[in-house]
Amino acid sequence: AAKQRGKDNWVRFTPGMERPVVADAQFGADLRRGLEAGEFRVVYQPLVDLHRNRVIGVEALVRWAHPARGLISPAEFIPAAERTGLIVPLGRFVLRETCRQAAAWLREFGPGVLQKAGPNVSVRQLHDPGFVDDVRAALADSGLPGELLVLELTESAVLRGPQVSRTLHELHDMGVRLALDDFGTGESSLSLLRAFPASIVKLDKSFVDGIELDEPDTPEAAARQAVARAVIQMAGALDLDTVAEGIENEEQAERLRRLGYSLGQGFHLAEPMHPEHVTRMLAGQQDDAAA
Ligand code: C2E
Ligand code: MG
Ligand code: MG
Ligand code: MG
Repeated sequence: AAKQRGKDNWVRFTPGMERPVVADAQFGADLRRGLEAGEFRVVYQPLVDLHRNRVIGVEALVRWAHPARGLISPAEFIPAAERTGLIVPLGRFVLRETCRQAAAWLREFGPGVLQKAGPNVSVRQLHDPGFVDDVRAALADSGLPGELLVLELTESAVLRGPQVSRTLHELHDMGVRLALDDFGTGESSLSLLRAFPASIVKLDKSFVDGIELDEPDTPEAAARQAVARAVIQMAGALDLDTVAEGIENEEQAERLRRLGYSLGQGFHLAEPMHPEHVTRMLAGQQDDAAA
């Protein structure tokens, strides 16, 4: 189909490659322009204590406010940012912005209110030799204690050999916490969790979908419920915190509570939101606590 559009068309596929090389280059140029123009924003999705129904942390999620295309979701630009290497400066922006914002919340509300704040980190960033220094500088410049920063990594990202492993241990030694994101979808194994200095596992949304059903309707659904049970037991044995992702209704929240999950994230609890909205939620909680 790409061929039919003619040889000067920018959506051109090199035979044998699954990605549009020319499109990537153009997209990369636009991404670079957007970065310089300050078009990227960080929104925050609350992490909620499922028992006390309070916000105890946030995940930082990037958005692109494109002048011509409107708001673009990360699913549309993160893969190209990774392929072009622009994820390194983009990720640095998200990291610095998250630290700055979390430190501001810490000053406004005091310690104990916000216990975790964190961006997603791509494997490409872990391979960047300046990454540990970037994290150290982001913490120093913002004044955020390392213990509050939670970097979200996927299982496939941490399985990348000795250099990545060294980087992760250096971050761990700085007090920064590491979360395994989308847990259960990758090459999860007990040995990975023992070798990797993680302190949090985030149960992927695919295991939360259907968790509320008393009678799983398919063998796959039954298997997903079994994974949710296995993850909480394993986390308990290894002394890891858990977060259940993608909770969309109260039945799911209740089922997860009964399985032993104490932290959750999802549209039912709170959607990704502008930082001012998080500020209002935290202020509201403080008023409730004082009342
Ligand atoms: P993720 O890290 O697993 O983040 C969770 C995603 O699930 C977010 O999508 C969030 O909006 C969405 N979500 C949360 N609760 C629910 C729910 O109840 N139902 C449903 N259907 N979805 C829910 P978002 O913001 O579109 O981000 C998608 C992915 O893009 C993220 O998945 C993450 O892998 C990546 N991403 C986002 N921001 C960054 C970033 O700054 N850097 C990197 N490297 N990746 C990022
Ligand atoms: Mg994440
Ligand atoms: Mg996730
Ligand atoms: Mg996920």
